[in-house]
Amino acid sequence: MLFSVHELEQRRIEFNEEFSPGDIDFGGDLRQRELLQASGRAELIHEHRGHSHVVEDIRIVGRFATSIEVLCARCLEPVAHAVSREFDLLYRPTGVDRRGDEVSIHQAETEISYYEGEGVLLEDVLREQVLLALPIRTVCREDCKGLCPKCGANRNGAECQCGDTGEDQRWAALKSRKNPGE
Ligand SMILES: [Zn+2]
Ligand SMILES: [Zn+2]
Repeated sequence: MLFSVHELEQRRIEFNEEFSPGDIDFGGDLRQRELLQASGRAELIHEHRGHSHVVEDIRIVGRFATSIEVLCARCLEPVAHAVSREFDLLYRPTGVDRRGDEVSIHQAETEISYYEGEGVLLEDVLREQVLLALPIRTVCREDCKGLCPKCGANRNGAECQCGDTGEDQRWAALKSRKNPGE
């Protein structure tokens, strides 16, 4: 769904959309598990900069919710995250701030991004917001044992045969000195 400057010049746009898994490409190892619901509104903000210089910003306010599967950082098993987030974003045309213009007063209150061409795609907004809503690092459980560095077996399951090497002993000693959660 495109929020085009042209259309926003006529009216503000309310949206209430559902995206099926696959509609938005999240890249990497992320997988959307259920419908992504997004609602909100888009409107044009006219920024007056000097005499006849008016910058047309697109403001998008809304919220979304879905469930995203990511891989455990240690054992690579999929882990589901319920993610939801509210956002209030301002998109400026690319290039308008290039000359180091003075920033507007309300800039601190909203996140500023830039758009190129006709306007902003809701799918692009949601992709970015989903990534921001996810934790930086996911583990399937605090005591996940991860993969065996030698044979690649998931050590949460059956023990592999690589167990009693010097390397593993040192790793165990290191682990016991650190926080139990890490
Ligand atoms: Zn794990
Ligand atoms: Zn092994």
